[in-house]
Amino acid sequence: MNADDILHRLRTVLHDAGRVALHEPHLEGRALEYVQECIETGWVSSVGKFVDRFEDDLAACTGARRAVVVVNGTAALQMCLLLAGVTEGDEVLCPALTFVATANAIAHARAVPHFVDCEERTLGLDPHKLADYLNEIAETRYGTTFNRRTGRPLRAVVAMHTFGHPVDLDPLVEVCERFRITLVEDAAESLGSRYKGRHTGTFGRVAAVSFNGNKIITTGGGGAILTNDDALADRAKHLTTTAKLPHRWEFVHDEIGYNFRMPNLNAALGCAQLELLPMLLERKRALAQQYQQAFADCPDVRVFREPEFATSNYWLNALVLPETAGLRDEVLERTNDAGVMTRPVWRLLSRLPIYSHCPAMDLSVSERLERQIVNIPSSAKLAAIQPAKTSARRVA
Ligand SMILES: *Cc1c(COP(=O)(O)O)cnc(C)c1O
Repeated sequence: MNADDILHRLRTVLHDAGRVALHEPHLEGRALEYVQECIETGWVSSVGKFVDRFEDDLAACTGARRAVVVVNGTAALQMCLLLAGVTEGDEVLCPALTFVATANAIAHARAVPHFVDCEERTLGLDPHKLADYLNEIAETRYGTTFNRRTGRPLRAVVAMHTFGHPVDLDPLVEVCERFRITLVEDAAESLGSRYKGRHTGTFGRVAAVSFNGNKIITTGGGGAILTNDDALADRAKHLTTTAKLPHRWEFVHDEIGYNFRMPNLNAALGCAQLELLPMLLERKRALAQQYQQAFADCPDVRVFREPEFATSNYWLNALVLPETAGLRDEVLERTNDAGVMTRPVWRLLSRLPIYSHCPAMDLSVSERLERQIVNIPSSAKLAAIQPAKTSARRVA
């Protein structure tokens, strides 16, 4: 299997010879109508009916008791960490194989990221390896778990559902409970993804979702905090809206809050986008299947599939290449030269100079995956729409 062969197989799915983006937003449906309504009524900023509606729609769609929408996914995650009780000097366990925002949110909460390894099967946190590691380094005193090596509290675990594929949540929830560490989900990429039928982002105490332009649905920029705890949701709303006490005219703020509110304009787009989610999920699944077929007869290249316990949103498709020296970079060069946009997975955060001083466990699986993963074009519109099926049935 060489880079040319891989490009050829991608082309069998992508058909036309033009440029193909990695991921484009799908702005159909009622987007324009809802945004226009904001402009016509003047409700464009931090309050308005679409903010409330988007929060209700998100809760309904995910099954989370509450959703609080904010300016972006990073802010949502920072807020989740505060709600989980993370304070200055704490350590927060998170994967090394994730987008930089996961660790940035931890740093913004003035805590220290502590990098843990992934498993091949999910590309996310390996709960069994985490349990073994915690057995070695963790010590619980008066209800708080400490890292015996650094003396710092191990306050939270952030699990990230890579490319929309859920991590193995049952054992992870069990490990977090056993070690008394709060589980937070970075569900930025996994709107629409379910673990054993239950939506991701509803397993941890709190979860963050992103609606950045490259995610499965977008509000331009935006994010949400999900939780099943009403008190936490109320606190999230308060903290993200400058911690202002309700009053008809007085400006009294009882904490140093944040201006993280999602404007009504963005929420309007979000409402329209959420209406498209079922269609987007269907198309993304179809596209993933087409890629799988295109590579079905080459055993050394794996098109990443959802783990058996999951229904993934297939947000971003990934090839897992053989470890052949130089192959990944050849594929990146050959495909991008040909106008088929591909990207490597993120540089491991533990290897970025900004985070290289942070504690980390053995990261051998993440290190291997970093050399093997290439993301391939995944816009919903690329799924060949299949009216052919209907006509075939009609003929039959
Ligand atoms: C996109 C993303 C975020 C951050 O979301 P923004 O809305 O861009 O701030 C956080 N974590 C992961 C894993 C992401 O993919």
